Amino acid sequence: MAKLTVEDLALAGKKVLMRVDFNVPIKNGVIGNDNRIVAALPTIKHVIKENGRAILFSHLGRIKSEDDKKELSLAPVAKRLGELLGQDVIFVPETRGAKLEEAINNLEDGQVLMVENTRFEDVKDGEFVKLESKNDPELGKYWASLGDDLFINDAFGTAHRSHASNVGIASNVDQAAAGYLMEKEIKFLGDSVEDPKRPFVAIIGGAKVSDKIEVVQALLKKADKVIIGGGMAYTFDAAKGNKIGNSLFEEDKVELAKSLMEEAGDRLVLPIDAVAADAFSNDAKTVTVDSEAGIPDGYMALDIGPKSVALFKDVLADAKTVVWNGPMGVFEMENFAKGTLAIGNDLVNVTENGGTTIVGGGDSTAAVQMLGVADKLSHISTGGGASLEYLEGKTLPGISSLSNK
Ligand code: AMP
Repeated sequence: MAKLTVEDLALAGKKVLMRVDFNVPIKNGVIGNDNRIVAALPTIKHVIKENGRAILFSHLGRIKSEDDKKELSLAPVAKRLGELLGQDVIFVPETRGAKLEEAINNLEDGQVLMVENTRFEDVKDGEFVKLESKNDPELGKYWASLGDDLFINDAFGTAHRSHASNVGIASNVDQAAAGYLMEKEIKFLGDSVEDPKRPFVAIIGGAKVSDKIEVVQALLKKADKVIIGGGMAYTFDAAKGNKIGNSLFEEDKVELAKSLMEEAGDRLVLPIDAVAADAFSNDAKTVTVDSEAGIPDGYMALDIGPKSVALFKDVLADAKTVVWNGPMGVFEMENFAKGTLAIGNDLVNVTENGGTTIVGGGDSTAAVQMLGVADKLSHISTGGGASLEYLEGKTLPGISSLSNK
């Protein structure tokens, strides 16, 4: 990799600033899912093993008022991290000041300290000043001054944002390196867009054309096939002149859909049938119809149908690289989850046949976890928005601010 990684740093005896992504679901101080904490353990353990002094920064949720701070302290996260590491994590409930500086200066080799939620800096005396989220130059400089000129960024989930705790610190230290998790994300996503094993198939689903159009356009330049599913497929269907009933529809995207279909020809693969329901409910009355026959009046398409499942399976059969982002239907309801779950199983086959499979986005990740196949795929990206922007070919400031080797 062209960027410095954690293995390039001499950590012994050094105060090492680290940006991790501990933005976990939390309610009344109870952590719903600690996947993100677990994902950062290899890098933190490396710093401990090398006798560095780890100083961790993360955001948690969004802070827009003083009130938000009551719910969104990182204290429970620091406690959980301590349990996972099997050693105490010193938690400082401040984002700056003498108490924090003293705790950092008292650190011993191999100890871990966690700073309070970086987004507490977004609200000062009740004002929404966004010092963290707007990458306030003074704040990045101050946080950088707390360490020994070493920074490790392992927070891929925020790499598409320019914040004080990632870009700000990185710009004010001698060496800014990628952690193991960041390195893995760059390797898998980077290879898939720069030098994919072919055939390279991208699968894009989800609700809206407008949210995913840039990634579809970018992937059509790189992939051999782009499969489209989910609610966004019906704007394409309408553009073909098919009846779509009450399905999701973005009228202002019809012309764009038409021109994309013309340009891409058979490289753009759309559903050929649908499971449509007479209400947005798991218990609704359903019919399975061919797209060309049209969705009946009063019905909305909530999943791809069995013919589309078979078509997509066929397209994926000899794929050597697959990138998947977004569900094929309203998979949160059991009766409309079949299409999404089928894709999850297809990806297992691709991996077993020696292909590389990459899943990004919360919903697709939830689907492969629901199926229990997450560990049978090559890579589950930890960043939904960040992975989409990477696939679009955009420069991610959290990555570009790291030092070159
Ligand atoms: P996104 O955030 O754009 O990836 O969209 C994910 C959401 O799209 C999920 O909550 C799905 O329930 C929803 N979705 C997928 N297919 C459909 C559909 N055919 N109709 C309505 N919503 C859908």
